[in-house]
This record gives sequence, structure tokens and C-alpha cells, in this order.
Amino acid sequence: MTTQQKIQSLRDELNQHNYNYYVLDNASISDFEFDIKLKELEKLEKENPEFFDANSPTQRVGGTITKNFETVTHKNRMYSLDNSYSKEDLLDWEKRVQKGLGRTDLEYTCELKFDGASINLTYENGQFMKAVTRGDGFQGDEVTANIRTIKSIPLSVKSDFVRDFEMRGEIILPIDGFNKMNEERVANGEEEYRNPRNTASGSLKLQDSTEVAKRPLDCLLYQVVTSERKYKTHFESLENARKVGFKVPKTIKLAKSIDEVFEFVNFWDTKRHDLPYETDGIVIKVNNLQQQEELGYTSKAPRWAIAYKFAAEQVSTVLNEITYQVGRTGAITPVANLDPVQLAGTTVKRASLHNADQIEKLDIREGDTVFVEKGGEIIPKIIAVDFAKRPIDSQPTIYATHCPECNTELVRTDGDAKHYCPNEFGCAPQITGRIQHFISRKAMDIDGLGGETVDLLRKEGLIQNYADLYDLKVEQIIPLERMAEKSAQNMINGIEKSKEIPFEKVLFALGIRFVGETVAKKLAKHFKSIDNLMTADFDILIGVDEIGDRIAQSIIDFSSDLGNIQLVNRLKHYGVQLEVSEESLENQTDKLKGQIFVVSGVFHQMSRNELKKAIEDNGGKVSSSISKKTNFIVAGDNMGPSKLTKAQDLGIEIISEQDFIDKISD
Ligand code: AMP
Ligand code: ZN
Repeated sequence: MTTQQKIQSLRDELNQHNYNYYVLDNASISDFEFDIKLKELEKLEKENPEFFDANSPTQRVGGTITKNFETVTHKNRMYSLDNSYSKEDLLDWEKRVQKGLGRTDLEYTCELKFDGASINLTYENGQFMKAVTRGDGFQGDEVTANIRTIKSIPLSVKSDFVRDFEMRGEIILPIDGFNKMNEERVANGEEEYRNPRNTASGSLKLQDSTEVAKRPLDCLLYQVVTSERKYKTHFESLENARKVGFKVPKTIKLAKSIDEVFEFVNFWDTKRHDLPYETDGIVIKVNNLQQQEELGYTSKAPRWAIAYKFAAEQVSTVLNEITYQVGRTGAITPVANLDPVQLAGTTVKRASLHNADQIEKLDIREGDTVFVEKGGEIIPKIIAVDFAKRPIDSQPTIYATHCPECNTELVRTDGDAKHYCPNEFGCAPQITGRIQHFISRKAMDIDGLGGETVDLLRKEGLIQNYADLYDLKVEQIIPLERMAEKSAQNMINGIEKSKEIPFEKVLFALGIRFVGETVAKKLAKHFKSIDNLMTADFDILIGVDEIGDRIAQSIIDFSSDLGNIQLVNRLKHYGVQLEVSEESLENQTDKLKGQIFVVSGVFHQMSRNELKKAIEDNGGKVSSSISKKTNFIVAGDNMGPSKLTKAQDLGIEIISEQDFIDKISD
């Protein structure tokens, strides 16, 4: 045997033992023997560095220090899941899915919803390449070195799976392992970790991968993402992923009807407490992959999946004080400060009270004993008062009349549940909050400047608004606390670079009330420049798709404020992008102007999203359902039968993918 063969054979053998132990839970070698073989391999690799392989089992012990985790854009967005809390919700979802596909003969997969940190693993040619956290769904942090230490994750897979793919899954800490970690911490006189979920997600961002290797982390996989159409169903792709080494839970189940889904839900509602890890619900997915593609996504979650959350846990505790927080838009949020209490694995000290109406409706008072509930990710909320325990001297709550930060009288407009502090330009948390929003990742994405620094710069009188950022000089920043020349320079560079950020993001960054990311995109596309937007009147604004009265009024308020006009003019002067760039206008035509399209089925030459974008770029509109207004249906393979009938009944022209391409490309 050559040295190379020897090395390969040791790697294969150790990989197999790891798999048997960590995935199948069935040890095939003693720890002692495993160590001897591992040492042998280490020695050979050291003597023959030309055979180095980042995916060798020797690399699982860690040893990499990551100072800064790199931000990476996901090739395929990592969506969140819509939630449901009752069987009625599930039935509603089924109806939507059936309507969307135009058929009722559907299969579903049922999976447990694991409570940990989501991860995306990229494999090329069967080799593990990188691991990225979900982050905001568009971009996450690359944590490859840390993930490599998790021994149930295969670093290479057999060739009879798809070649290039991503595996999505959840990094979890089994309850046992978590308890052991805590026993050790107590023994060392350290504070205990609060819950498995936060500890798992915190582990991914440890700088020293050797530390990660020591933690009993595990990875449960629930989705294969690939452009290869090898498998027809989600269930089949997962079963095959399990065969090639991934830890796909055996609990997944195929359901032929929604009743079978209910059986699964009922079973796990009680049995979940016997599992070795925490679950907060169930995930139901349409099984057929073409149907998944056809259903697509909302701006936030797949239409083809839904989470079912188990009833939340509840506890009661004493509410000591109601305080008020001021957000960046001046919105006031009342907060309940509670006697600390354990709830669903975390210590709860504060809960949101939403608004004045909510306090009045539940008659919540300081000194009351209240019931607090928490379901999954949701911030704890107060659901009721235990009136039997109300103190005799209890006084009804009088809602704050003045801003706790700047003492300005609060206002509340008709139809708005929240109170606002109107002192937009003089109220500290609003000033800081607006600038923090401006620099945030989805907005101007300014590197080298964090939220705390913004507050510091404001306190030092260096900035009062976001336009001031562009006037900052390195010499002004260096003297500040904890600032070195290098970090000051980084900050200035980051600010300079933000001048390249496209208009739609700048528009979002301006922080106009009710103008979130999606609305900003719509407006940028429609108006093309800040001048067009700020001079548009109410009727023009509400004429834009999906822009209603509330958003239109908010834009008018913003545009008629002298302070805002000045800010925008300054941004323009500094060179911030306040109109859509030439480049992005270039590919656009109005060939399809005034035409409404419905897209249905599966396509070959472009993806569904590319197709939709092509329609919009050429001035057409995409609608999700067929109606009299529809002009064309672009039909791919497997269009739902009831959609087809409806189109025929209404006499709508059905065109193929190729017809469509011909339409736009002459
Ligand atoms: P949420 O964070 O509540 O929007 O739920 C979406 C998250 O649930 C995903 O990002 C995953 O991390 C997690 N999740 C856990 N188990 C599953 C599963 N079986 N299928 C899909 N997502 C899951
Ligand atoms: Zn204020």
C-alpha cells in the first residue's frame, strides 16, 4: 500500500466509525482504539503534508481561530416559516395550498421542528465546502471551521447522491449534553447556561473551534436544496440523504391526507417530552417538489410549508413596574418589569405590553400577579391578570402622558394603537435609533460602525442625524473612547463605501414610517428617484400597487418636512444614490406594459423567479391567481388541472415558456 492509500484507508475507516457512533448511535470501536488510529493518521498527514485534506477526520478536533466571521450571501435564500396554532389554521393552509395548485390529491411530510440554530451546509462534488448561519435569510456568517468539528456531519458523501447541493438543518444541543455542560460549569464555579437553544447558537460563533469540538453539538437535517431534479419528492430526497450519511431524523413521516397530519400532531404533542432534544412544534411540507416550486414563497416564508406550534407554556409572576421604551420612530412601547421567573427554559424578567389599549383591556396594574406566556421565538407576553391576588390598595394604570426620555407630551393619532413622542429631532433614542437603522445591514450596510458607537458619536455632539455621518473626519473620531486610528479609518471607509448602495436600500434607510424593505423596493422601482417620490401627491402614491392610505400619508408627511428635505439634499450632495442607476434601467423595457401574467407549472430555461423578474423588467405585472383581468398564462409542466380549466373557461391565452421568451426578445 502506498502512503497515500494508507492515509485514505485510515480516513475511510475513521469516517465510518464516526458515522456509526454519531449518526447511528451504535459504536463500532472503543474510544481507545479510535484514538490510536487517529494519532496514526495525524502522524502520516504531518509527515506527508502534500496529502492534506480539510475534510480529513483529523480536522474535526478544531484548532482554527476565527476572529471575524465572514458575511456570506446565501445562494438560495433561507426563509422563515409561517406559524399555525390550531387545527383550523392547518385546514386553512391546506385550502390555500389546494387552491394554489388547483388539485386536492396532495401528500405531506410531517417533521419535528427542532429548536436550535439553523445552518446551511454546502457540498460540491460530494465534498463539504462551507457552513453558513441563517443570519437575516439573505446573508449569514460563515462558520465552517466550527461546524467541521460536529462529528455527525459527513465531510464527504457517496457519489450516488446529487453532486452539488446544500443541506439545511438545525444545530442542536441534546438535553443530556446540555445538562452535563452545566454540571461542569457549576463545578468550576461558573454561571450556568440558560437553555440548550441559545447555547447551541452561541457555540457557532465561538472564536476557537477547539472549544466547539468539546461541546456535544449535533446536527439534524431537514432539507436538500439542489437544482438537479433527481428526486421527485421531499421525502425521497431526505431518505436518500440519510442513506449517504446525513442525520435525518427517523421521526419524519409521510402523510397522505391532512387527517394523517393531525395524527402526527396529536402523537407528538404528548410524546415530545420524551425526546432527547427540544422541539417547539411540527413542520408540515407539501411533499412533491414540483408542487413546492409551483407554490413558491411569500416575502418571508414558503407557501408549501407551515409550522404548527404546540401550546405555549404559561407561568404566573408579579409585575413590579411598568416602564416605557422609545423606538426609532418615536413609538412608545410599555414594558412590564417582572419578578424573574423560569419559562420554557429561559429566565423571563420583562414582557411587552404592546400599547395602552392592551393594558386597559386586560386591566393590568403594577403590583398585580400576571400570567406570562411564551411560544418559541416570540417575546413573552402577558395574557391575563390573576385578579384573586390583586393587592387591596391597587390603583388603575395611568398611561404615560410624556416621553420618558425627553419629556415631550405624547401624541396618538386616530386609528393608531401606539403613542408617539413627536420630538423627532430632539429625542435621544429617536436620533440614535434612526441613525442605527440607517447604517444597518439591510439599509446602508456600513461596516466599521456599530450601534453603540452611534450613540457615543451622538453624545459627543459629532452627529445629530444620518447626513452628519458623511461629514465625519478621522481626527474627530480618534480621541473618542476605545477608538484607534485603524478603527477610525475603517469607519470612514465604511461610510464612504455606502455611497454605492443602490437607491432602493437608501430609501429604506431613510426610515420613513411604514416604508419597510419591500415597500421601499416597490417605490424605488416605480418612482426611480427620490425627487419623483417626494413630489408625488396622495393620489399618485395610492395609485401604486400595494401602496395604501397609511403609507402614502406617511410619505407625504416625510416629504413636506423641511428638516427631511434638507437631510435628503445633503445626502444628494455627498453622492449617496438617490435615484435608480443607469445600469439597472438598461435591461428594462416596456414591451409588456399593461399586461397581467399568471405563471404556473415548472420551467426549464429559467427559474420561476427569473421568469417573474423578466415579466416585471419588461413592464408587465405578475398576479398570483387567474381572473378576468389576466392577459396571459405562462404554463410550464404540470400546471394544476383546476387552473387550466379556469383559464379555458375565461378564454385566457396560454403560452409556453418559449413563447414568452420570444415575446420579450425581439
Ligand atoms: P422560524 O424561525 O420560527 O421562522 O422557523 C423557521 C426555522 O425553523 C428554520 O430556519 C429552521 O431553523 C427551523 N426548523 C426546525 N426544524 C425544521 C424542519 N423540520 N423544517 C424546516 N425548518 C425547521
Ligand atoms: Zn421623546
